[in-house]
Amino acid sequence: MPSAQTSRPDRVPAMRKALLAWFARHRRPMPWREEVSAYRTVVSELMCQQTQIATVIPYFERWTARWPDFPQLARAEEAEVMALWAGLGYYSRARNLLALARQVAALPHPPRTAAEWREFKGVGPYTAAAIASIAFAEPVAVVDGNVVRVLARLDGMRAKLRDASSAAKLFTGRADELVDPKSPGDFNQAMMELGATVCRKGVPDCGRCPLAAWCDAKAQGDAATLPRFVSKERKEADVDRALVRRDDQILLRRNPPGARRLAGMAEIPVLSSLGLEPDGEPALVRRRTIGTVTYEEKLFAVAPKAADLRKWAKDAELEWVGTADLDGAALSGPHRRWLGEWLSRGGRTTRGTRP
Ligand code: SF4
Repeated sequence: MPSAQTSRPDRVPAMRKALLAWFARHRRPMPWREEVSAYRTVVSELMCQQTQIATVIPYFERWTARWPDFPQLARAEEAEVMALWAGLGYYSRARNLLALARQVAALPHPPRTAAEWREFKGVGPYTAAAIASIAFAEPVAVVDGNVVRVLARLDGMRAKLRDASSAAKLFTGRADELVDPKSPGDFNQAMMELGATVCRKGVPDCGRCPLAAWCDAKAQGDAATLPRFVSKERKEADVDRALVRRDDQILLRRNPPGARRLAGMAEIPVLSSLGLEPDGEPALVRRRTIGTVTYEEKLFAVAPKAADLRKWAKDAELEWVGTADLDGAALSGPHRRWLGEWLSRGGRTTRGTRP
C-alpha cells in the first residue's frame, strides 16, 4: 500500500524528525498536555471521542477539579458524574469512565500497555494506543480520522474505503512503522495535530506541512479528494416532543439506567409517550444529524390538564424539574439548548396538542 514516496525505510527517520520539530513549534496548548498523567490522559481521550477539543476543554477542567485522580472518581455518585458530563453527548462514555475508574482504583497501579487498556469497556484500539503511548511511552500508533487522512494522502491511497473503522484498521500497520519509538506520545499527538490543523478535511494547507517532501497526494495534486469513502445511505426521521410547564417546573423524562440510549439522562419527553398528539404550530422546530440520520424535532408547548397530571404521576420515568435547577440536570446539549431558547422567549404554553 505505501507509495514510493514514503515506503522507503531510510526516509522514516527524516519524516519523524520533521514532524516532531513542527509539533514542538506548533502544538496547541491543552490542559492535559500541560500536566500529563495516566488519569488526565484517560479522561481527555474519552472526552475527545466524537467531540471537538474546544468543547472538551471546559468540561475537562471542571471534571479534573472535581475528581483529580482515579480513586476520587471511583467514589463519585453516578448522578453527579452524569450531571457534569451533561452537554458533551455520547453519555455511555461517562458511565464507562466511572466504571473504569472503579476498576483501576482497585488495582495496585494503573495498566501500562495498550493491550491492557483495551480490556476496559469503552476503550477501543485508538483510545488504548493514545493512553499507552502518551502516558506510558509505549511505541504504538494512534489511528484516528485525522491520522487516516494524513496517511491516505501521504501514501496516495485512492481506492474507496468502506468506513472509518475499516480505514483505521487498514492504516494501523503503516502507522506503527512510522511511530517514533523514542517519543511515541508526542509523535502520535503530532500526527493528530497535523491532521486537525494543516492536513485538514477538504483543502489541506500543504505549504505549511512538514511532511510535504514525502507526500504522494501533494505531488499528484489531488490531496483535497483523499481519502475516498463509499458513500453512505442517509435517512430522515421526525420526532415530536412536549415542552410541558407547570408554574416554574418543566416535565422531563429520565431514561432508566439500562436504557439503550441516553441511559440515566433526562430529556424533553416525546409527545406520544405522554398520550398526546401534535395539534397546531410547534413552539420550536430544530434539525440535527446523528450518524447517518437527520432528525426534524418539533417541540410543542403544552399546558397540562388535570387528567394529564394524574396520568403522568403514574409514570415513574417522568419528573418535574424547577426551571432554576435545569443547569444541574443531566440533560443532553440539544435538549438543554432547546429548553433555554423556549424559556428565554417566555416559555408560554398553549394546548397545542390533542389528548
Ligand atoms: S503535503 Fe498536504 S496533503 Fe500531504 S500530508 Fe501534508 S498537508 Fe497533507
